[in-house]
Amino acid sequence: MPRYIFITGGVLSSLGKGVSAASTGFLLKEKGFRVSIMKLDPYLNVDAGTMNPFQHGEVFVTEDGGETDLDIGHYERFLGEYLTKKHNVTSGQVYRAVIERERRGEYLGATVQIIPHLTDEIKHRIREVAQEGHLDILIVEVGGTVGDIESLPFLEAIRQMRMEEGEENTFYIHVGMLVYLRNAGELKTKPMQHSIMKLREIGIQPDALILRSEVKPGPEEIDKVARASNLHPRRVFLSLDLPTVYELPLELEKQGITDVILDSLNLPPRSQHRHMDRWKEFVSRVKSSSESVRVGIVGKYVHIRDAYKSIFEALIHSGARHGVRVDAVLINSEEVEQEKVNLREINLDAILIPGGFGKRGIEGKIQAIRFARENKIPFLGICLGMQLSVIEFARNVLGLEGASSTEFSPETPHPVIDLMPEQKDVDAKGGTMRLGASPIDVEEGTLAFRLYTKNRIYERHRHRYEVNPRYIESLRKGGMVISGMDPGRKYVEIIELPDHPFFIASQFHPEFRSQPLSTSPLFDGFIEAAIQRKRAKGQG
Ligand code: GLN
Repeated sequence: MPRYIFITGGVLSSLGKGVSAASTGFLLKEKGFRVSIMKLDPYLNVDAGTMNPFQHGEVFVTEDGGETDLDIGHYERFLGEYLTKKHNVTSGQVYRAVIERERRGEYLGATVQIIPHLTDEIKHRIREVAQEGHLDILIVEVGGTVGDIESLPFLEAIRQMRMEEGEENTFYIHVGMLVYLRNAGELKTKPMQHSIMKLREIGIQPDALILRSEVKPGPEEIDKVARASNLHPRRVFLSLDLPTVYELPLELEKQGITDVILDSLNLPPRSQHRHMDRWKEFVSRVKSSSESVRVGIVGKYVHIRDAYKSIFEALIHSGARHGVRVDAVLINSEEVEQEKVNLREINLDAILIPGGFGKRGIEGKIQAIRFARENKIPFLGICLGMQLSVIEFARNVLGLEGASSTEFSPETPHPVIDLMPEQKDVDAKGGTMRLGASPIDVEEGTLAFRLYTKNRIYERHRHRYEVNPRYIESLRKGGMVISGMDPGRKYVEIIELPDHPFFIASQFHPEFRSQPLSTSPLFDGFIEAAIQRKRAKGQG
């Protein structure tokens, strides 16, 4: 019988609830249990695919093509597993399922209501993940903050689950924050106390708390919060600011979180230290690397770092593998375009162009690609980054003036990037791109093959446009190497330039598969090239 751990959030958002859930999952998996994590998101979007990264950060893509909340990325990276779209349930999905069932007449005349119909649908989706994964423990994170109207049906569903699954099979963790008043030098527990009261008003008594805090609370503050929640102080855990989020499991373990959870759930630990030593080694490399490389990420979502979350994480993973710290500098492509930023002056060891949509900032990215190509700076292009590399090459090497993508220049004389034929009749925006993992054949003797050391690889996609097959011959003749294609030979998947120390770009998103203990070959090669460039500069 699966056990359920529910994670709620209080006081404010962006507390690192996802990382807390992921860390708890990591620790319980370490103890030999089959563990997974899912997230319930209170918004009405059916999935994260239609949401602007400015508001919610990156759209994380799963193997099976789910466009999910970025917390699913944290879960995968901490669990060292790949999850499916079923691990991200939104209000939009549950309302849609209930309303469609009502339209089919399946409620047989009943008045369809939030309780029980919507809550039943929510509980069904939670149990389905636990059963299909044959899990011992499923961690369920509820998005949003207690007190929001939006999340009430989810909170009601998880409240009911304690009655239905039994007290000993459920565990509730409330993650909140102590507010530090800098001027007064005081740490305030009141907002946290109130959010616990709010949770209890809904009928949920937490079994443990995780407190985010900028400064370390003393025993009095911990006692106050513990008392407000009817908990022994031993059930209050601290999440202070850490040099890296990957250290949180180690911190929570020191404070004894797994013992408290496993005791309550009546589960004796099974084994110990599956990956713990390697994880600790990884964390210490992230924290202690003295050498660093500077990577410029030229994009348009520069004000919110979460918009490129998985890319930052992949850089950290590969950096740790090579024993360097990666200083990722976000560069606004529009400022490159308007010449407010001069790439020559930034002293970069490597340049990365991430994925993106739409016209804004395109020319600045193309300038950055040209700069990397001509100055032999290690370059990695991802998705839109690959498409723009092809455009740059077509314009400046092949001399195809005005070459572009029909995405942002429908009238271009040279549509080197064009809508994929299967997209031509697609009007709806939600979930209609080419999505998820699919096979790619890698050409032997290429840089891509040296990095992947395999003929057949799998990577995740999220795009509508592709390299126009009509231009492949000219690109090849001009010196561009097409080193990866899908097995049907329809889509160009990887391009590279052989007369450059490291210039490679992929139509897929390698960042989504990168994990601390299983890095991405493309990112590994990219960081390696950045280190070489930096060292060569140092000697020169
Ligand atoms: N906008 C481009 C396309 O749809 C690239 C997408 C992306 O970078 N994820 O093909």
